[in-house]
Amino acid sequence: MKFGSSGIRGLAPGEITPDLALRFGMAVGALHKSVVVGRDTRTSSPTLANAVVSGALSGGARVADAGMLPTPTLAHATRRYDAGVMVTASHNPPEYNGLKLWIAPGRAANAAERTAVEALLKTPPSGMPWNVLHGVERETRAEREHADAILGQVKLERRVRVVVDCANGAGCDASPRLLRRLGCDVVTLHAQPDGTFPGRPPEPTAETLTDLCKAVKATGAHAGIAHDGDADRAVAVTEKGVVVSGDALLALLAARLKARKPVVPLDTSMAVDDALKGARVTRTRVGDAFISEELARSGGDFGGEPSGAFIFPKISLCPDGLHAAAYIAAMASDAKLSELVARLPRYPLVRASLPVAAGRVGNAMAAIAKELRSWGPVEELDGVRVSVKDGWVLVRPSGTEPKFRVTSEARDEKTAQANLELALDVVKKAVNG
Ligand code: MG
Repeated sequence: MKFGSSGIRGLAPGEITPDLALRFGMAVGALHKSVVVGRDTRTSSPTLANAVVSGALSGGARVADAGMLPTPTLAHATRRYDAGVMVTASHNPPEYNGLKLWIAPGRAANAAERTAVEALLKTPPSGMPWNVLHGVERETRAEREHADAILGQVKLERRVRVVVDCANGAGCDASPRLLRRLGCDVVTLHAQPDGTFPGRPPEPTAETLTDLCKAVKATGAHAGIAHDGDADRAVAVTEKGVVVSGDALLALLAARLKARKPVVPLDTSMAVDDALKGARVTRTRVGDAFISEELARSGGDFGGEPSGAFIFPKISLCPDGLHAAAYIAAMASDAKLSELVARLPRYPLVRASLPVAAGRVGNAMAAIAKELRSWGPVEELDGVRVSVKDGWVLVRPSGTEPKFRVTSEARDEKTAQANLELALDVVKKAVNG
């Protein structure tokens, strides 16, 4: 199994087995003196979390079992330990599970830390002798501490009604409780923990949030909030029952926080830059782990992805669906969400793709990059993103297919389309040349 920047993920059982979880726990327990273990609501999660606990104890660590809680809450609690392990497959379907490693004070493990665990997965350490083994502690303060930290940052102007759709996932208890403490009148939806995800699939998208949109209108709520399976994401619904696009929510949150140094992935709309006049927006490779790393490196003040992963570095470097939920409620108490969205600039964004022979991707990308560098300032983190007059163009190889993906955004439709055509010509020449 590959231990990537979002941890280890796969079918459970099948790929993510209790045996793997035990060895993962042993490795983490041998490398770190104290470990806190949490899990989401998946049916396979208790089995796997108990195996991680056993393994970490056997590896010699002091271990605390935090039970079911959101990933950002577990990450926040990691500040009182050396490491944390979260058993979750985030927004994947119910038959999946995964293991994610957190390092104090609450950041995702970096490549070197993951490699150290991987090495011990292949050759597990021998268990510690009887006279040094610890017992299991209970971690019970995590939710309260995390909520206190969020409530120290976010305040409501006036009481608002919100509907929170917890997807039957790890946010079921913590998110409604946080919103009530914030001062919201909370209506819950899909808020009983259930790893079969009977309410809706755990990925919050416009297609999966139809119940939430209806409930917001039916209850006369000011906003709807939806989490994914482990509540590190949040998606907003306006008082009119319309899902707010990821780019728009990113722009609204960044503006609400008055972010000066936000970090976003390189395919984010320039509406975000325009909503934040004078801010220095940094773009990274697509993936919340890259945003988190860049925030830590540059001291950025807010990060996020249009997928609904938002990072508030003042309290944590983990994407935090609860913190975002509190801000969504706060924005709904400032003004109508639909009006805030309508005030945002919106630009045409067009996409196309071109097939390429698998063996030619590298050479073709080099030729494309050479040409695009003559167009304007480039960022080459993941393909090439070039800034042109009143817009930008991104050409990058697909991660899953032998294809180049081309994206073009501009202030008007005609320019966006013209830039796309020009870029496609460059790609065609490189692919055939
Ligand atoms: Mg997630």
